[in-house]
Amino acid sequence: MNQTVRLLMSQFVTHDVRHFIVSKPEGFSIVPGQGVELAIDRPGLREQGRPFTPTGLADDRVLEFTIKAYPDHAGVTQALHQLTPGAELLMSEPFGTIHYEGPGVFIAGGAGITPFLAILRDLASKGELDGQTLIFSNKTPRDVICEKELRHALGERCILTCTGAVAPGYENRRVDRAFLEERIRDFKQHFYVCGPPPFMDAVNGVLADLGASPESLVFER
Ligand SMILES: Cc1cc2nc3c(=O)[nH]c(=O)nc-3n(C[C@H](O)[C@H](O)[C@H](O)COP(=O)(O)OP(=O)(O)OC[C@H]3O[C@@H](n4cnc5c(N)ncnc54)[C@H](O)[C@@H]3O)c2cc1C
Repeated sequence: MNQTVRLLMSQFVTHDVRHFIVSKPEGFSIVPGQGVELAIDRPGLREQGRPFTPTGLADDRVLEFTIKAYPDHAGVTQALHQLTPGAELLMSEPFGTIHYEGPGVFIAGGAGITPFLAILRDLASKGELDGQTLIFSNKTPRDVICEKELRHALGERCILTCTGAVAPGYENRRVDRAFLEERIRDFKQHFYVCGPPPFMDAVNGVLADLGASPESLVFER
């Protein structure tokens, strides 16, 4: 980890997700969708780096992270949620394979939306959201990160599904073969997939089955 950054502020996005606004090192640049490793610069924690994805725009003068904590699990994410402004973090160089390759379907589960937030915000800033579709799966409506922004940006092409709740405006089903067959006409476009490993395995498997070529699948390898 080669740079020190400072927490400037943090605020709730959902009940268990917070945005973290962090100082941006001089000359830092990142491709939307890439991650960095972050560690809290305190004894016992500075060796515990974890990967997170900056979700702000490349030209922002600060960095934004969108981080979900697991309250019943005393991990780094929980420690991050307890930080107050001024805390110092260690940050690595950017890494990762998720980046925009062309119009397509973004399929996210839970905090897996973060690389797509970075990419979709970048596309929105360039007026290039036409032809993009988002399928975003969560347990309940209260878990949906940046819901208003995503619905506003993508309109009808923002498809939200909640596997653990029935509510108007949300599908109530898993992202499985039947769902993707119903919602997607063209399996020759790009697919971007991010979420918990079992979600990614299942979705990537179905997409391949339905005719998506391995080269058109973008996910963290
Ligand atoms: C490239 C990349 C980018 C990422 N970007 C982001 C991002 O922008 N935002 C974000 O929120 N996450 C992101 N993640 C996931 C994030 O890195 C993990 O959630 C984080 O490392 C967890 O650290 P931890 O110390 O809290 O948990 P660890 O102790 O490292 O546990 C790892 C995982 O195990 C699970 N787990 C273990 N025990 C429990 C328990 N008792 N209860 C519930 N869950 C448990 C959690 O899902 C946790 O994520 C990213 C991951 C990768 C690989």
